[in-house]
Amino acid sequence: MSKLGAVKGVAIWAVLTGFALAVAGGVTLARAQDKVVNVYSYRQPFLIRPFLDVFEKETGIRVNTVFATKGMVERLKREGRNSPADLILTVDIGRLHEAVEADVLQGVSSPTLERNVPSHYRHPDGLWYGLTVRSRVIMASRERVSPDELSTHEALAEPRWKGRFCTRSSQHPYNVALLASLIAHHGEEWAEDWARGVKNNLARKPQGNDRAQVKAVYEGVCDIALVNSYYMGKMLQDEEQSKWANAVFIHFPNQQGRGAHVNISGAGVTKAAPHKADAVKLLEFLSGPLAQQMYAEQNYEYPVNPEAEWSGLLKSWGEFKADDLSLATVAEYRDEAIKVFDRVGFP
Ligand code: FE
Repeated sequence: MSKLGAVKGVAIWAVLTGFALAVAGGVTLARAQDKVVNVYSYRQPFLIRPFLDVFEKETGIRVNTVFATKGMVERLKREGRNSPADLILTVDIGRLHEAVEADVLQGVSSPTLERNVPSHYRHPDGLWYGLTVRSRVIMASRERVSPDELSTHEALAEPRWKGRFCTRSSQHPYNVALLASLIAHHGEEWAEDWARGVKNNLARKPQGNDRAQVKAVYEGVCDIALVNSYYMGKMLQDEEQSKWANAVFIHFPNQQGRGAHVNISGAGVTKAAPHKADAVKLLEFLSGPLAQQMYAEQNYEYPVNPEAEWSGLLKSWGEFKADDLSLATVAEYRDEAIKVFDRVGFP
């Protein structure tokens, strides 16, 4: 097949499967003997290209990325042993766990990875490694809430917040992971009471994404909202949304106790990886201080590697203590969390 024909073939596949496509340098995914790593990514190309360029220069290993918005695990399953993918990059423990359940990843380990990624941010058998950290924080109205009214995620169920609380759908992976962490800490029965209490505090039926909740605080619909920390950075960069961001302050919950609930973006080496050794090299690079700094800064997230420096904006939000409950444990309670939200009729 000509180069153009090959590219066209991949593009047609992209249309059929809902994959958007960004193949580096206009070449198709490469064969096993090439110095190359093929990455299937839920992260947008502009977020990852800058440090992939550095990796290519340093190692002579080319990185091809296929950008996906959905269907990555299904595609890996369908491709089976013939999959060209070496590494997947995705956000949220829910999606990493989905890949584990589908049995499309393999365990890898190296002293570098173990040094770079704290154990609670990686799978115990090395099936996935966290690369960036986000906290599910409370964003509260500067006008109507004083910081000393806020304390923990647990306290969101208190009646003082009745009619004052906004969140996106309970079925969204961000909220599922939060409840899963609460089940891990307090048990299912406690978590059900909590979910019922929080539901009773809703100012409106959950709708929209995280940023829509901050907009609702800005508009006076509610006073506090559950939001992933990086959205503060994203809103500040946006002409229309910066006024929403400026109407709220960030509260990191549970600072007196176990620390704020966090989630990760991460990566895993695929079971069929034709270039496993180079994929591990890429993973080591991604968890190293340089890529960590660039990667985290691109999306206003925190690096997993404690050696990597936080961006100035993140520092301005203040230091915080993160819950060191293993994300692998959080993943185990996801199914229960979904059922608890269902049982209390949390929309
Ligand atoms: Fe997000």
